[in-house]
Parts: sequence; C-alpha cells; structure tokens
Amino acid sequence: MLYIVPTPIGNLEDITLRALRILREEAEVVLAEDTRTSSVLFQKYDIHTPLRAFHAHNEHAVMPGIVQQLQQGVKMALISDAGTPSISDPGFLLVRACVQQGIEVQCLPGPTAFVPALVASGLPCDRFHFEGFLPHKKGRQTRLKYLATLSETFVLYESPHRLQRCMKELMAVCGPERSACIARELSKVHETLYRGTLEELSARLQGDAHMAKGEIVVVVTGK
Ligand code: SAM
Repeated sequence: MLYIVPTPIGNLEDITLRALRILREEAEVVLAEDTRTSSVLFQKYDIHTPLRAFHAHNEHAVMPGIVQQLQQGVKMALISDAGTPSISDPGFLLVRACVQQGIEVQCLPGPTAFVPALVASGLPCDRFHFEGFLPHKKGRQTRLKYLATLSETFVLYESPHRLQRCMKELMAVCGPERSACIARELSKVHETLYRGTLEELSARLQGDAHMAKGEIVVVVTGK
C-alpha cells in the first residue's frame, strides 16, 4: 500500500486527522522530498515514523527498491515539502509504477496551493486549466500562446523573481484587460491576494516589491 499524503502549504494546522494517523500509525516508512523540512511537521505532531529521501534527483535511482518493498507488503506514505505530492512535485513516476505493478495507491484529499488561489480569486472556477510552472526557457512562449487561447480560467505557479516577467508575458499574449489574481503566501501570516487586470497588476508590481515576495500562484480568467 502506498499512501499519498498532502501536507500543509503554510499553516501547520492544515492537516487532516487521517493524514496524521497514517503518518503516525499506518505507514512504516515515509518518503519525503526533504527530510529536514518534513521533520518540522513530524516534531509538531509527535510523529516518529522513519523518513526516507525521495526527490526529483533520486527518484529514478531509488524507485525500483521502493516498489520491491511495497510488493513485499511494506506500507509507505509519500509526502512532499508542501501540498499534494505529484502536483508540481515528485510523485507521478512512483504512482505510475505502483499502478503498473498492481500495488494499491490511496491519495488522501488535502492541501494544495492552486485550489484556495482559484477559489479566492473570484474568477470563474466551474472549469479551469491547471498549468503549474511554465518552462523557464524552451517552450515557454508556446505554452503562453496556448494559455491565451483558453476559454476557461487558468492557474500558474510562478517563482517570485520571475513574477514581473511572467505578468508582462501574460499581458503580451492575453492583452492588458484580462482579469487576474496574484495569490501570495496562502495560509501564512502574510497571505495577500491582489486582484485586477493584467495591466493593473503589472503596474502595481513595479511599485510594490512585497507583491513578489514568498510563494505565488497566478490565476487568469479565460478568453
Ligand atoms: N505540491 C504543491 C501543491 O500541491 O500545491 C506545489 C509544490 S510546487 C514545488 C511549489 C509552488 O506552489 C510554489 O512555487 C508556489 O507557486 C505554490 N505554492 C506553494 N505553497 C504556496 C503558498 N502557501 N502560497 C502560494 N503559493 C504556494
């Protein structure tokens, strides 16, 4: 059994009772993206299950051994630094391997950054497209041009130091009038949502350095 366990994206209270029980009592090993980051959560909730590193740089190397242990009946949980594993985080390759090998996978519902950003943006969310991170270089323009054609709201993850560039690029492909929202530091002390047109948000960003600090989700209304 492999449990996929979402963990808080900021506020450590955002964890379910089931997630705590599985991390504390059910799983024999917890695969974690960064064991030091996860040990903060483990200390707060008095969890003593052994942590093992599973991240983008070792997933190919360690996966066969993990799959073998799962086949032998070892119960494991996978967590990432924040939010839901596999959502712009490692996890997909392991889940796919487990599904192919007939190993049961259960993903718990829980925190992820794009849902509160999308819902609080006030932009239509009956249908939406999740883009995650844009490629930094190759393929970036292709994705941006594609996003501009979508009729539904789309959601991007962006790093703070690329935010200004990203807003300018979005304005170039979508036009200045599209409504958008920059959601930063969700569930944390400095959570802020900035809403406006791409042009307004871009102009505001230039005069307000705080807007591009911390972790950021960008939500843009459809065409
Ligand atoms: N697995 C995570 C999830 O379920 O949302 C995403 C991990 S991805 C490596 C990290 C990105 O998620 C950040 O760069 C940011 O775009 C977004 N993010 C994570 N936590 C956030 C927060 N508290 N506020 C705003 N955005 C956040």
